[in-house]
Amino acid sequence: MFRAWNYGAGPSVMPLEVLEEAQREFTDYNDTGISIIEMSHRSADFDAVAKDAEARLRRIMDIPDNYRVLFEQGGGRGQFAAIPLNLLPEDGHADYFVTGHWSRCAYRECAERYGKAILHECVEKNAQGEYFINYDRMQVTEGATYAYACLNETVNGIEMFELPDTGDVPLIVDMSSNILTRPVDVRKFGAIIFGAQKNVAPAGLTVTIVREDLIGHARKYCPSVLDWQVLSSYDSMYNTPNTFSWYMAGKVFKWIENLGGVKALEERNIRKSTLLYDYIDSTDFYCCPIERKDRSRVNCVFTLKDESLNAEFLERAKRQHLIGLKGHKVLGGMRASIYNAMSVEGVEVLVDFLRCFEIDHRA
Ligand SMILES: *Cc1c(COP(=O)(O)O)cnc(C)c1O
Repeated sequence: MFRAWNYGAGPSVMPLEVLEEAQREFTDYNDTGISIIEMSHRSADFDAVAKDAEARLRRIMDIPDNYRVLFEQGGGRGQFAAIPLNLLPEDGHADYFVTGHWSRCAYRECAERYGKAILHECVEKNAQGEYFINYDRMQVTEGATYAYACLNETVNGIEMFELPDTGDVPLIVDMSSNILTRPVDVRKFGAIIFGAQKNVAPAGLTVTIVREDLIGHARKYCPSVLDWQVLSSYDSMYNTPNTFSWYMAGKVFKWIENLGGVKALEERNIRKSTLLYDYIDSTDFYCCPIERKDRSRVNCVFTLKDESLNAEFLERAKRQHLIGLKGHKVLGGMRASIYNAMSVEGVEVLVDFLRCFEIDHRA
């Protein structure tokens, strides 16, 4: 079997064991004679899959009982609309702490369509030209309904390791790309949303973990499929959920439990990202334009000092079966996504590649 090294940002690498287990079960799930994707979402077999996945997620994230877990569709972008539609009164306002591409998209979705969003630009450049998060700018304004942040900016390679103090104002966060890569205390958030396709499952599943008291305030015209109250009262089966993705998510949660949980993955992710950043910092051939403290552990953004080598870099990487290294189109440069399912070996292979490419191109 051939497997490439996949550093793509999403949909992205999945644990091989999970793919193989799904493959074994694919045509005949649990002796039913049908595939999981051919099965009613209301069947006993799927119900068991659904409940098992939720129970595992609750265990690995230590989600308190007063939080609901909703399995939805519509992606991260769908939740950018769902958040104001579920929380923000017509005459209310919300604070958006913008640290990169995705928090800016969330801000714009709210501001341009649903109501008053206050923009807080929270990334600055230091004297060396590196980006850093200025947490002092994350101040809630008087009377805000909620505050919003993206804990890992997938495109920019910036991760928030601190949280702003928002007092009684619920903090709503997007963790699409760093969910389950390190422990977080769910109690600190009003809601956590994530699209599954970066760290958890195939695309098409979005999870919302939301504190109960924040449910039931949706605007009258909020589409039912985005209304957290509706989803919650139907156990996420108001309409047909993405059954395959939900099933795959359950397998990934089990894989995480078997590895020792989120804490063990955090240690591995620190090791992986340190390997990569240490190498990049050790040479002036490559450059990471972000202050060390704010660098993402899962999306490593870097540039070649000589940008005219970009095409050759990507071409050679591809020939050696290292794929998905091209940066997001809004930023250019390179990006290596090294999510939970990327092994330490995968990062060592990448560092080796960077070193060899550099040696061959040193002036
Ligand atoms: C990928 C991503 C999104 C967008 O998700 P879609 O499912 O494509 O809507 C939003 N936020 C973050 C942090 C992401 O990484």
